[in-house]
Amino acid sequence: MFDKLTGALQDLFRKWRGVGKLSERNVQDALREVRLTLLEADVHYQVARDFIGRVKEKALGREVLDSITPGQQMIKIVHDELVVLLGGAHRDFDFSGRPASVLLLGLHGAGKTTTAAKLARLWKKKEKKVLLVACDLRRPAAVDQLRILAGQAEALFFPPRPGEALPDLGRRALEQAGRDACDVVLFDTGGRFQMDAELVAEVRELREAVRPGNVVLVLDAAIGQESVHVAETFHKEVGLTGLILTKLDGDARGGAALSVHAVTGCPILVTGTGEQLDNLEPFYPDRMASRILGMGDVVSLVEKAQQAVDVKEMQKMQERLLEDRFTLEDFLEQIQQVKRLGPVENLLEMMPGAGMLRGRVRPEQAGQVAAEWKKAEAILRSMTPGERRNPDILDAGRRRRIALGSGTAVQDVNAVLQQYEQARRMTRQFKHMQKRLLRKGR
Ligand code: GDP
Ligand code: MG
Repeated sequence: MFDKLTGALQDLFRKWRGVGKLSERNVQDALREVRLTLLEADVHYQVARDFIGRVKEKALGREVLDSITPGQQMIKIVHDELVVLLGGAHRDFDFSGRPASVLLLGLHGAGKTTTAAKLARLWKKKEKKVLLVACDLRRPAAVDQLRILAGQAEALFFPPRPGEALPDLGRRALEQAGRDACDVVLFDTGGRFQMDAELVAEVRELREAVRPGNVVLVLDAAIGQESVHVAETFHKEVGLTGLILTKLDGDARGGAALSVHAVTGCPILVTGTGEQLDNLEPFYPDRMASRILGMGDVVSLVEKAQQAVDVKEMQKMQERLLEDRFTLEDFLEQIQQVKRLGPVENLLEMMPGAGMLRGRVRPEQAGQVAAEWKKAEAILRSMTPGERRNPDILDAGRRRRIALGSGTAVQDVNAVLQQYEQARRMTRQFKHMQKRLLRKGR
């Protein structure tokens, strides 16, 4: 979603790297370009203006550090201010209530119901007992949608009675949650295509009835500038404690994400990055800032890797590697683990330095990488376990047989064996890198 913005900022930074001295004049010039870039990305004009003001103040008021060039210092100031713009420190939901309660609000199609199920699943994984309450009474299909999603998320589900008023439904659900000793109650409300008095009245009534610890607005990041207006209005009329941005996987320009914290003062808690229930990510302003600036999101990548990769398996592999017993069996396992991390594009986005690849790696190319992995997997599966454990016995005859069995050519088999050699070398390096990162991440 931030591809264009990142590209533009990196072009700017490349120019700055050479700057030897920060003067009023060149800071002014540099900042004019940053401002245009932000506006281009659909950042709210007032937010952009304030942002530039703060960066300028810091750039001109600060002693130049010896260790970095003035250009690098500018980049650092922009980064730090971007973190502030996105909300500073990471914030989570308020779980202090017994049960904790979350009211999800937003316009029609913003992603409330989907997000409710994603949150339920996330919390379920953390051993919380979650009750999902269907409060969209206007559309009958909405109740069924939540019922099905609740099933997928393995959460408890609470439907309305026919003709029941919202506040009654809310109170009844809270009682039930108390009886069932639930940890969290999530109210999935109905939306409208736009803010109007009726929606506001409805939401206020429900809020009065259930007094939720969290009043969270779900915002579709793809609606751009409009989302700033929606967030302002909801905050003024209802009072919010947090924000959720959905559809960050889309190709909108990202300005909304950069503006909504500034205009409401509310933290962005999580973001939606796809239609699947797993596509929910906690929001870290510093990581997002680094990602926007193309510095890569190393910490997220490592965390994600830890989640998806079977840690025990990985350790076993590393032990074997150290003892130089890393075989093609392990290589096959490794390919499968990497595949579990998700689509290649997502991985690239999080890799440090991959910003340079941005715009150069097209979706087709990412698809090509995925196809390569698939081919390698087929080849490895066409080998016998004995061959995988002892690649040295793979003579020309065996290679021909494997190519035939996997529907590939002998060159492909040779290529995979070369990759295996490389992987052996790289895994050794990766181990060192991972250790270093984990130490830094603390
Ligand atoms: P609601 O009206 O606010 O309850 O919105 P829904 O939860 O029904 O979602 C509306 C549409 O947006 C559905 O098609 C969802 O699959 C889709 N959607 C929700 N969140 C995301 C997201 O993070 N990324 C993408 N690509 N689609 C999403
Ligand atoms: Mg809904």
